Amino acid sequence: MPTQYDAAVVGPRTPVAFEALRSEALVCVRCPLAEGRTQVVFGVGDPHADLMFVGEGPGREEDLAGEPFVGRSGKLLDRLVQEELGMDRSRCYIANVVKCRPPENRDPAPAEIEACRPYLERQIDLIDPRVVVTLGNFAARLLLDTTRGIKALRGRPYPFRRGHLVPTYHPAFALRSGGQVVAEMRADLVRAKRLLASRQVEDSAGPARDLDDRVGPPERDPG
Ligand code: URA
Repeated sequence: MPTQYDAAVVGPRTPVAFEALRSEALVCVRCPLAEGRTQVVFGVGDPHADLMFVGEGPGREEDLAGEPFVGRSGKLLDRLVQEELGMDRSRCYIANVVKCRPPENRDPAPAEIEACRPYLERQIDLIDPRVVVTLGNFAARLLLDTTRGIKALRGRPYPFRRGHLVPTYHPAFALRSGGQVVAEMRADLVRAKRLLASRQVEDSAGPARDLDDRVGPPERDPG
């Protein structure tokens, strides 16, 4: 009979731990975004997934639905994931940097990102995905601990925890930009697929800080 200290009962991948985290997040008041939300958008999908997506924060539709990426950006994300990885959202996990909607869809503020960060870190701990795909600047910068923009970061995978991180554009940016950006997102998803299949690092990737050293000061870039 396992005890409560048995890894099989309280180990990091147990539904119990994940549900406890979710319950805690659903009543969170750590930052002012709590005041304006309809509901916390914790995340959706398989908590045992090998593949995890991390976006920026819920928009109006996500705030109402309680699920990430259900609007136009989400439709594009679903389509690209289906076409390039042959899977639907139930087979991966999708979360955001901030779990509550920033008013008027503004960028999340640094203090809001910091307040919410423990939820995302713990989600990643518990899911323990082999590949994390970040969508847009906020997730890539947070998880790679860099100030570089997504244009400079994308195009290669990075070692991340026990697996890899593949930065790509935010689907909202791809919707605004069209062909070339969508093509690059597809290429990034193929990169993720190869990593899922092989466990190999595609390029000789180093930490993002090394990249900062090589390519110079931070830039403002779009998606
Ligand atoms: N944009 C995001 O970054 N996340 C969502 O959940 C929806 C839109």
